[in-house]
Amino acid sequence: MSRVPLFVTSLAAHHEGLVEALARVVATERFILGPEVQAFEEEFAAYLGVRHCVGVANGTDALAIALRALGVERGDEVVVPSFTFYATAEAVAAIGARPVFCDVDPETFCVTRETVETAMTAGTKAVVPVHLFGNVAPVPDLRDLGVPVLEDAAQAAGAALDGNMAGGLGDAATFSFFPSKNLPCLGDGGAVVTDDDEAAERVRRLRFHGSEDKETFVDIGYNSRLDALQAAALRVLLPELDGWNAARRDVAAEYERGGLGEHVALPRVVDGAQHAYHLYVVRHERPDELAAALAERGVQARGYYRRPTHRQPAMAAFGGGADLPGTDEAARTHLALPMGPLLTQDQAQDVIAACAPVP
Ligand SMILES: *Cc1c(COP(=O)(O)O)cnc(C)c1O
Repeated sequence: MSRVPLFVTSLAAHHEGLVEALARVVATERFILGPEVQAFEEEFAAYLGVRHCVGVANGTDALAIALRALGVERGDEVVVPSFTFYATAEAVAAIGARPVFCDVDPETFCVTRETVETAMTAGTKAVVPVHLFGNVAPVPDLRDLGVPVLEDAAQAAGAALDGNMAGGLGDAATFSFFPSKNLPCLGDGGAVVTDDDEAAERVRRLRFHGSEDKETFVDIGYNSRLDALQAAALRVLLPELDGWNAARRDVAAEYERGGLGEHVALPRVVDGAQHAYHLYVVRHERPDELAAALAERGVQARGYYRRPTHRQPAMAAFGGGADLPGTDEAARTHLALPMGPLLTQDQAQDVIAACAPVP
């Protein structure tokens, strides 16, 4: 049996194009903002079908800046899921607002209208649904709750819901281009996207020290721009995104067809969603035992969020004792299996065989 790593992905086929793009930036010496960043912003906005894309330094800054651009202020409450990467809640706390943790559906790993409504109070000023693992949270169900909806689309570049791109469903959305995400750059990078002209203007100002003209500073902002080198790399890789995601969906289909569901609970796609399979996450009653058995058979697997955010030490002040049964269930049972655009059918078969109980 071949060794199957957790991430089966590589930029090797694109090294030449990437080096050319980086050389172009070096030749022009336009390293901060400039034509490459503007071109990527236009290309990514067009890809998503939104009016504005503003490149920032990473997906965590993107969340903090977008929340402020949507009007969230110090002391405001923001509803976020606990079962997600820590940065979703961290960005809320970093701007002085209060993360209020809501539950997820343990089968989709996403929030629902019901779990969000349960967490809302009169002090709620925004909600941040996360498109976790590349599934798409049901954002249209959240649009009439009376507060802005900010999609955390860090794991869902290229996913869609009922034909609309993830990132174009809420009032604004944030992306990360960290190298392991579906649309990677060559280090850290991120973006805020929105159809709202005023919010986009505020994001542009906040990413540049709260200034529009570099002379007058009207906000306490950030030094948080997408590097021109990263923008140039992203322009090479964006045209690959749909093909990569289609290959990821083929792997998921192969897992299903090959009978993986006889051994573990398969991920459930949100109704109407086109999943981007950032990770292929199944559920099992004893996931760490299964991971150990898989390791012996040469297959990598891991749990990502065994300790959900609301139980992290840094979040003790924000409802560490919240009652979130779906979150606890997801945290206890989830396990990521190998996934990636370059994972072969034979490797998928090896994963399925490795998941079968020892006879
Ligand atoms: C990766 C990620 C982020 C943070 O992005 P960075 O670019 O690493 O700062 C935020 N939210 C989610 C759900 C993520 O997966």
